[in-house]
Amino acid sequence: MTDPHAPWHSRARTFFTGDPTPMAEHGAVVVIGLGRFGASLARELTSLGVDVVGIDCDEAIVESLRDELPFVTRADATQDAALTQLGVPEASRVIIAIGSDLEASILAASRILRSGNDRVWAKAISEPHAEILAQLGVKQIVNPEDDMGRRLAHLIRGHMSDFLRIDSDYAIVRTTPPRRAVGQPLSALGLRGRHGITVIAVKHPGAGWANTDGGTVLEADDEIIIAGAPDAVERFSALDKHV
Ligand code: ATP
Repeated sequence: MTDPHAPWHSRARTFFTGDPTPMAEHGAVVVIGLGRFGASLARELTSLGVDVVGIDCDEAIVESLRDELPFVTRADATQDAALTQLGVPEASRVIIAIGSDLEASILAASRILRSGNDRVWAKAISEPHAEILAQLGVKQIVNPEDDMGRRLAHLIRGHMSDFLRIDSDYAIVRTTPPRRAVGQPLSALGLRGRHGITVIAVKHPGAGWANTDGGTVLEADDEIIIAGAPDAVERFSALDKHV
């Protein structure tokens, strides 16, 4: 058992000699492919205090990230031996962030799943790519470009300053209240019945975000967070706004 407070290089030595247990015990997350997406994910996880193992087959990429990521190494994630040596089968999460090299993405996914680790997330850059990953047994598939594109489409249509799709039938949106929802307690407005949305939080100018209750009265210059079906939140955000 390694000391979690030990400097990263001493912990890394245990890890890179092929004993993956310490990393697994600390909930290590392996990020494979350190392009823009993978590197940004690895940095963010590191800043959240997660033990991240970054893997890329390109030495120059590995070198460029050495100062930012405590554990980063050059390896080919399609090779069983490298995966085993790096403790990938035992990792608490593995993210395959390889996009354009379809063969490498699929092969890495297949080998990691075959090693018995099904805690795999993978980035897909197209529908067929996502379909193959799903067929292999990858349960969490993300398509950052597609997700961002959808999000941007909602933002560009106006009325909303942020849009988060939770699922195909549920979204959370940051917007401003329509005139008709101002000046009366939420309980009197019947927004759920009439518009299929719930106002979950409100921010008065100069104040912080606060959860709403039935007695909350919205003001015209408030910002609100609403939740509901994507078309319902879209419609409600557009109400009384003639842009
Ligand atoms: P970005 O996130 O920058 O948009 P991308 O979708 O274009 O990236 P790729 O360039 O295909 O993705 O891959 C991202 C990274 O994955 C690259 O840095 C590449 O070196 C690395 N990579 C590709 N194949 C492998 C492999 N077999 N093992 C480890 N890393 C790999």
